[in-house]
Amino acid sequence: MRIAVTGGAGFIGSHYVRTLLDGGYQGYENAHVTVLDKLTYAGLRVNLPAAHPRLDFVQGDICDRALLRRVLPGHDAVVHFAAESHVDRSVRDADVFTRTNVGGTQALADICLEAGVPRMVHVSTDEVYGSIPEGSWTEESPLLPNSPYAASKAAADLMVRAYWRTHGLNVSVTRCSNNYGPYQHPEKLVPLFVTHLLEGLPLPLYGDGRNVREWMHVDDHCRAVQLVLTEGEAGEIYNVGGGEELTNLDVTARLLDLCGADPSVVRRVADRKGHDLRYSLDGTKLRDTLGFTPRIGFAQGLAETVEWYRAHPRWWRTAKYGRSGGSGPAHRQGRPAMAPRAAVGSAR
Ligand code: NAD
Repeated sequence: MRIAVTGGAGFIGSHYVRTLLDGGYQGYENAHVTVLDKLTYAGLRVNLPAAHPRLDFVQGDICDRALLRRVLPGHDAVVHFAAESHVDRSVRDADVFTRTNVGGTQALADICLEAGVPRMVHVSTDEVYGSIPEGSWTEESPLLPNSPYAASKAAADLMVRAYWRTHGLNVSVTRCSNNYGPYQHPEKLVPLFVTHLLEGLPLPLYGDGRNVREWMHVDDHCRAVQLVLTEGEAGEIYNVGGGEELTNLDVTARLLDLCGADPSVVRRVADRKGHDLRYSLDGTKLRDTLGFTPRIGFAQGLAETVEWYRAHPRWWRTAKYGRSGGSGPAHRQGRPAMAPRAAVGSAR
């Protein structure tokens, strides 16, 4: 069994790969994993074992069709995590989002067909549905993405569905809510706030902090992706829901509590343009058809995540500032990996 994982050096992809290599998915204990990752600012080689008998690491771009033609033949499946993933960055410059998230996904679909790769899972997001004041989205809800990031993910979802319908590509799509857990880049709310608190910095909170997100531990999300890979049907979309809904204010209060900090460190900053108010997924389909329920409660998962950041200062300092062993361009040029204006408390 050979699995190609795009974006396997990022937050969620690396959790999936580490779990695969640790034998965490039944029936895949001997699977060989090829990670294809460009190592953008968001991808760190240190998120994966330096060497492992069942791991090949290829640094490269999913838009590079010649590379895909060399790498993908012989694989039994592609699990596609690679993406530009930060909404704030897409608000400032959407070009690379269209290129990677839409063009890269299309290139992967094309080369899967050409190379005869028999299975693909496309990892998408709840953000494709837009914002919902009450109730929850099912897989039949309309796609009304509001940020350039969400629009690029929605376009990719439609593209792979069209490849299923037109060419018979065996692809399933997952749409998960906000993830949290170890190895998340400190541009995202939880690690940004935890690392700021560990550094004694104020917490910049967007707007009134009343935006609601549904939180899912990365381990639960990856388990759902694996379930869809093995048991999901071609052409089907699966919401990965059942997480806990909290306002950004609630999350901030819990982090202050876990870090023993005073609420006075919170600074309200101008809201994100077009900031979605609420996300909420109906996870009935994945639960009833494939038996998925999340296992890690937010209180426990968040406490463990804070402890992980506390215990791994070298990792998050590298991701945040490009210091001590960072391999991306920011590190090479000696400037912060995270531009100061990106450092605002957005959930995604
Ligand atoms: P991330 O930003 O941490 O990681 C993305 C990875 O993709 C990085 O390793 C990066 O180097 C790589 N990459 C980017 N462009 C590439 C390219 N052109 N070619 C090859 N590799 C490239 O993102 P994440 O949070 O781990 O998200 C992974 C996937 O899950 C994304 O598709 C995202 O849309 C989706 N998702 C994320 C969340 C969340 O809360 N983080 C929730 C639902 C869905």
